[in-house]
Amino acid sequence: MCTNKKQNSESKETGNWYTKGFYFLHYDHHVREDWDMGKDTDPDQIRRLLDLARPDAISLITKGNTGYTTYPTKVGFRPPHYYKDMVKIYRDAAAEHNIPFIAYYNPGRDKYIMEHKPEWNKMDINGKLQDRAICYNTPVVEEYLLPQVDEIMDLYHPAGWWMDGTFPHHYVCFCEECKKDFRKQTGLEPPDSPRSESWSAYKKFNQDQWRQFVHKLAERIHAKDPDCLIACAAAWYYSIPEKPDPGYGFFSHDFSWPGNVYFHSGVLRFWDTQGLPYDVMTTTFLSADKLKPFDRLAQEMAVSLSNGGRFYAWDNPSPSSGLYDSHIDYMGRLSSWLRSRQPYWQDAESMPDVSVLEIAESHYLRTDTISALFPNSRDIPKIAKTLSMLHMHAEILADWRLLEGPVRGSLLILNDPLVIPDSVMYKLDEYVNRGGSVLLTAGALKCDVSGIAEFAGVEYVSEASQKVSVNVPGMGTLPLQYKWYNVRPGDAEIILSGEKNVPFLTRKEAGPGAVWYCAVPMFEESGGLSHPDALRKAILDIVLPESERRINVKAPEWVEVSLRKQESPNKRYIVHLVNMSGGRVGARGSEYISPNPSMPVCTISVRVPQKPAFVTLEPGGREPEYWEYSDGNVVVRTGEAHIHEMVVLTFSD
Ligand SMILES: [Zn+2]
Repeated sequence: MCTNKKQNSESKETGNWYTKGFYFLHYDHHVREDWDMGKDTDPDQIRRLLDLARPDAISLITKGNTGYTTYPTKVGFRPPHYYKDMVKIYRDAAAEHNIPFIAYYNPGRDKYIMEHKPEWNKMDINGKLQDRAICYNTPVVEEYLLPQVDEIMDLYHPAGWWMDGTFPHHYVCFCEECKKDFRKQTGLEPPDSPRSESWSAYKKFNQDQWRQFVHKLAERIHAKDPDCLIACAAAWYYSIPEKPDPGYGFFSHDFSWPGNVYFHSGVLRFWDTQGLPYDVMTTTFLSADKLKPFDRLAQEMAVSLSNGGRFYAWDNPSPSSGLYDSHIDYMGRLSSWLRSRQPYWQDAESMPDVSVLEIAESHYLRTDTISALFPNSRDIPKIAKTLSMLHMHAEILADWRLLEGPVRGSLLILNDPLVIPDSVMYKLDEYVNRGGSVLLTAGALKCDVSGIAEFAGVEYVSEASQKVSVNVPGMGTLPLQYKWYNVRPGDAEIILSGEKNVPFLTRKEAGPGAVWYCAVPMFEESGGLSHPDALRKAILDIVLPESERRINVKAPEWVEVSLRKQESPNKRYIVHLVNMSGGRVGARGSEYISPNPSMPVCTISVRVPQKPAFVTLEPGGREPEYWEYSDGNVVVRTGEAHIHEMVVLTFSD
């Protein structure tokens, strides 16, 4: 519908060096006690790497999760076998090649602190130390972390930081400091289980510690260099669907485990709505002596760039801090693959058909009793994967973004929320009045928000879990075991119904738009069906028919599709087709399953503003098997492809 041009131009104006970058290298070096840190670090080898790979930035661990540094710290802990200042060598090599140096730092996990200063480490509910999890409610912040960050700023002046480990491995903390401060702040007794009355308040108190810490961390860095760009690994996607702290300049996370490319894709489609640039970081190896197969890396790179992301290749130096020559060569090979695609990626903007909404308050309520500090979303990864397999190009929005920016899809899905704030309700109404369609499911009608029944044209009556059969076009009568929400029809039309005419899918016309309601949480795992995705497809084909989509594709379900557009140097549409097949990559190379060796010829149909001047398959400027324009649509038959294909429609102005 609208565009995010404003967001793109904002990031350019701030001089964010990361925005123009495309390919980054990360060297991960969590130094252990028996390693010879720096012994084999060789500036000539790093020069060869940078000459060959030509990355846009390089990062190295300054302090890893063991607590040991790769530089001569006076604040923290040098490893027992210390040879050279690795940070200086990498930083100088970056400067010589005129690229930014990024300091990886782990302010969240620290084995040395856990073992030597356990009072700064988190405790679990049973009074046991959590594994390498720093508690930000202790003097560790002022006495160790921030002084060390200052030290690195003063010694090396990094252009950016990659802050790791601040929450994904962290659980609610029950150390003495936390319990004492909670009592003082709230007057409540700390909980002794997730069922205790004070649990929610206690968990929020813990989550706030994280928010305050990451804010303070960025402030401290920016006091020394306001232009320094910081990423907080894994932050501000599904598990923290709230507005990012303003001190952070890009999104990043290492996605190697779990190595599920559908998960990467969903996260990128979430980050793509937030106005900051982002990347996917994955390992280039399966184990110390085994490089990751190129097919798999091509999938990971393709998923990132087809969703507007950059690629951050992660390698590990040897235990004596040298690089492997075969790994250096591999970084060069990745570079060639990426650079041939970069012109079609640069400043391209997503044109999704579907927008999926995640409401932060609902997410936190749903995951409240889980003791992980910020648990993953229950439904969003599933929805993202389902839409991908149906070839529906989607974006994912947090509710703060709904309030502040455009919705680019013509269908907005709100699946089974527990809470709908009034501000969101107002925006949904506005969206429908501008011609959008909203699909609400399951518990949406039960939310305590004024106007929801009138908005949907159906009213919540009760919840039931009895089996109900539904007649779905093309599928016959299906017995469903989903939780069922009984509703009373108002002015909505019943489109599909179960036995005794109970509403299953309803539609209310609302000016130029429409509001749909589906009485089951349709994106939950199975609902007792052997093919739940077929039911989802049937519903989505009714709610957003192919004729109303910007793009339709005939391809195997494991081909992911995305549509992006560029304004310059030419106005063009880029359709990405990505081969997502193959299994997950387990830790240390277990469970690796190769992707299918090829994507068959696919037929795509794209709604366009005018007839394209030409249509090519990129990179390489190849001719498609066939293309034709008629009535505002271009139909293209691609050729056979391997992992990633771009169909580029170039318009004459
Ligand atoms: Zn604590």
